[in-house]
Amino acid sequence: RLIAPQEQDTQESVIDRAMRPKKLTDYTGQKEVCSQLEIFIAAARQRGEALDHTLIFGPPGLGKTTLANIIANEMDASIKSTSGPVLEKAGDLAAMLTNLEPNDVLFIDEIHRLSPAVEEILYSAMEDYQLDIMIGEGPAARSIKLDLPPFTLIGATTRAGALTSPLRARFGIPLRLEFYNVGDLTSIVSRSAQVLNLELDQPGAIEVAKRSRGTPRIANRLLRRVRDFAEVKYQGSIDKQVAAEALGVLDVDSEGFDFLDRKLLLTIVEKFAGGPVGLDNLAAAIGEEKETIEDVIEPFLIQQGFIQRTHRGRMATDKTFLHFGLGKTD
Ligand code: ADP
Repeated sequence: RLIAPQEQDTQESVIDRAMRPKKLTDYTGQKEVCSQLEIFIAAARQRGEALDHTLIFGPPGLGKTTLANIIANEMDASIKSTSGPVLEKAGDLAAMLTNLEPNDVLFIDEIHRLSPAVEEILYSAMEDYQLDIMIGEGPAARSIKLDLPPFTLIGATTRAGALTSPLRARFGIPLRLEFYNVGDLTSIVSRSAQVLNLELDQPGAIEVAKRSRGTPRIANRLLRRVRDFAEVKYQGSIDKQVAAEALGVLDVDSEGFDFLDRKLLLTIVEKFAGGPVGLDNLAAAIGEEKETIEDVIEPFLIQQGFIQRTHRGRMATDKTFLHFGLGKTD
């Protein structure tokens, strides 16, 4: 899916990394998050301490990993990165923790997917910088305690609600990333065009930004696909018309919706008379996982006012009916 907010292949992750801003001042948008961080980082640096543990939440592709790297960079610290599902055993986490230098950053992506045994170890590591771990099994098992250097845990999650409360309570700095507005995405697209050495005018950048679902990763991906189109058909230079034509061919409509969004919205409208429809029914009707709907497809549609989430289920809004040129049936 062209507009999936997750990373799609290794080539994309290489390009993503190249386009990642390195400093807080280059991190576009998210003004509130940036101004809070600026103060917390300056204070920690003045005291010569590690930054408080930080939890970043927001949908995929909004810049959580980028921000974690920027924080480490601004703290002049190294960053060690891993993710919830990769840390299978307590020992996996212990190995990472014991490799940290004072004030280092340990970044755990998808932190809501840690196993309970691993999460347990994290509690005392975060709170007292102590590693409390069982070694051996059966009667020979014993617990050992190790002191850890002060460090900053940065956790990233797409689902704030999926975190256990003891874990959430141990983060001093919670940061919520919002979808980006068109102005911010236009700056991101223009900056990426410079990195990629592309000729892209302002209206062209706005056209790509408008269809990027408020998500920098999608903006950068659409830009690369539009570049392919422009190189083959228009000697490489991108203006509004070229961008619109390319994105039309790629089946990304004026709202940034693709077939899957349209399928979801039209299913609510046509099969369930506009809703409310429960998540289970909806997932079965469109043949997608519930999690995909909740984490990937729906957040942007809700934020843009195309779907309402009520206690009785999902409902299409007037805006949805209007988008498809349909009248409401009731
Ligand atoms: P997440 O970890 O939330 O899935 P990433 O941090 O990997 O997202 O961001 C995806 C890509 O989007 C990055 O490679 C970067 O190029 C771009 N990006 C994200 N946030 C910003 C931002 N605030 N300013 C500029 N580019 C950004």
